[in-house]
Amino acid sequence: MTITLTGVDGASRQLTDEAVEALRAGLRGSLLDRPLDPEQEPRPAWNPMHDGRAALTARCSGTADVVDAVRFAREHGLLVAVRGGGHSVSGLSTVSDGLLIDLSAMNGVQVDPLRRLAHVQGGALWGDVDRETQVIGLATPGGVVSDTGVAGLTLGGGYGWLRRRYGLSSDNLVEAQVVCADGTVRTASADSEPDLFWALRGGGGNFGVVTSFTFRLHPVGPIVAFAAPFYPLEDLRQILEGWRDYTATAPDDVTSVVLTITFPAVPGMPEVIHDRRVAIVGGVYAGDPDRGAEVLAPLRELATPLFDMSGPTPFTAVQSGFDAFFPRQTLRSYWKSQYLDSLSDEAIAAIDAAAQDRPAPITLVNTFHMGGALSAVDPESTAFAQRQPPYMVSIDGMWTDPDQDRSIVSWVRSRWDEVRKHGTGAVYLNFTGLDDEPVRAGTDTAFGRNLLRLGQVKAQYDPTNLFQVNNNVTPAS
Ligand SMILES: Cc1cc2nc3c(=O)[nH]c(=O)nc-3n(C[C@H](O)[C@H](O)[C@H](O)COP(=O)(O)OP(=O)(O)OC[C@H]3O[C@@H](n4cnc5c(N)ncnc54)[C@H](O)[C@@H]3O)c2cc1C
Repeated sequence: MTITLTGVDGASRQLTDEAVEALRAGLRGSLLDRPLDPEQEPRPAWNPMHDGRAALTARCSGTADVVDAVRFAREHGLLVAVRGGGHSVSGLSTVSDGLLIDLSAMNGVQVDPLRRLAHVQGGALWGDVDRETQVIGLATPGGVVSDTGVAGLTLGGGYGWLRRRYGLSSDNLVEAQVVCADGTVRTASADSEPDLFWALRGGGGNFGVVTSFTFRLHPVGPIVAFAAPFYPLEDLRQILEGWRDYTATAPDDVTSVVLTITFPAVPGMPEVIHDRRVAIVGGVYAGDPDRGAEVLAPLRELATPLFDMSGPTPFTAVQSGFDAFFPRQTLRSYWKSQYLDSLSDEAIAAIDAAAQDRPAPITLVNTFHMGGALSAVDPESTAFAQRQPPYMVSIDGMWTDPDQDRSIVSWVRSRWDEVRKHGTGAVYLNFTGLDDEPVRAGTDTAFGRNLLRLGQVKAQYDPTNLFQVNNNVTPAS
C-alpha cells in the first residue's frame, strides 16, 4: 500500500506504508495518516477559509519528534507546514495533502524568576505564558488575544499592550532552539548562530521549526491601569484628531489603539452598546496603576462615551478581554495593514470612511500607536525593519457567511488602497491576507533592506526552501 502526498515542488510523492510506519514507531507523540476535519484536530486553524487537509499530521511531543518529522519531510521531499498557535490569518499553518508538523502538545512554560526569563515551548499560546509569568508579577510583550500562538507572532515581530514600553515580542527573545532543515538542532542567541538569531526576530518561519523560545521578563501588574471608553462611531473623526494630539506627547509607558466594531449584544454589558457601532479607545499603562489612571485620563475625554470600562484591571484580564470575539474556525478573515508616518487629516478621513462603511459587524478598522521602545531599535539590528512609523492601520475583514467572501475581500482591498495613499507602503506580515496574493510584494515592503540578508541566511539554513509555507524568503543564490 502507498499513500500519496504533495511534494515540496508541487508534484505527487508516493510513500510506502513501511516508511510511514517507521516514522510513527519513532515518535513519542502521534502520527495521523488521514486528512482530518477541523473538529478532529486538537488545534484547528483559526481562519476557516483555509480548509486544506494534511495527508499526514505529526503531533510532536518534543524536539526529538520534530527532528524526526523534519528529516522525514526532507528525505521524501514533502511539502510541509508548521502549526504553532494556528492563528495565521493567511492560512500559513495549513497544507493540502502535505505533512503538517503540529506543535499543539508542546505548550509548556517554565519561568526562571531569578534571571527573569521564561522558557516557552514552540506550541504554547500567549495565555499559557501570561498564566505562568503573571503569577509572580512578570510579563513579556505578547499578543492581545490569549489564544494566539507564541511562535508565529514572535517570529513575525509581535505587537501587544506593552509594545511602546518593552518593544516587540521578538525584541525580548534572548534564545531559541531551532530544528533546521537538515534536521540538526541549533541554539540561536547573540553568542550562538548570531545570523540565525538575527533572522528569527522578524523573519517568520523560514529558518526552521522553533521548539523553544526564551524571553526576557519585566515587572508588570498584576493590576494595570486600563482605558476602554466606548464612543459612538459617528464621533470617530473627532476621536482620532484628539488621539493624534494625545499620542504626540504620550510617554512610552502608554500603549493605545483606536478600534472600531459593531459591539455584539453581550449579556452583562450595558444595552446602550448592544449591536451599536462604536469606537473603543484601548490603552494600557505599563507602570504604577494610580499614575497610569492619571496619564490615561485624556483618552476617556475624546468625546462623550456611551459607556466606559476604564479602571484598574488584572493584566491577565486585559490580555484575554477580547478572546470571546475571535473563536477558532468561525470568522472568515482577510486582513490588510499599512504603516503611516503621520496621521494627517486626509488619513483620518480615509480611516473614518472605512470604519463607517464596514460590511460586517465583526469587521474591524483599527489604528495603532507605535513608536516608543519599537523605534529605539535599529531597523537592521534584527530582521524586523518597520521601526520608525508612529502609526499602523489594519483593516480586519471578518464575517461568517461564505457567500460574502468575494465582496468583503474586495471591500478590504479597496478601503486599504485609500488608506495606503497616506501610508509608507509597508505592511505588517503577521496581518497579511490571502495566500493567493503576491506574497513577494508584502515581504519586499516589510523587510526592506533586510531582505537581502534574510535571503543569505535562508541559503545557509534552508537552501532547498523546505520551509516555504510562510511569508517566504527565497534562498539567495
Ligand atoms: C485573533 C487574532 C489576534 C491576533 N492578535 C495579534 C496581536 O495582538 N499582535 C500581533 O502582532 N499579531 C496578532 N495576530 C496575528 C498573529 O501574530 C499571526 O497570525 C501569527 O502568525 C500567529 O501565530 P501562530 O503561532 O498562532 O500561527 P500559526 O498559524 O501556527 O503559524 C503562523 C506562521 O508561523 C510559522 N510557525 C508557527 N509555529 C512555528 C514554530 N514553532 N517554528 C517555526 N515556525 C512556526 C508557521 O509555519 C506559519 O508560517 C492575531 C491573529 C489573530 C487571528
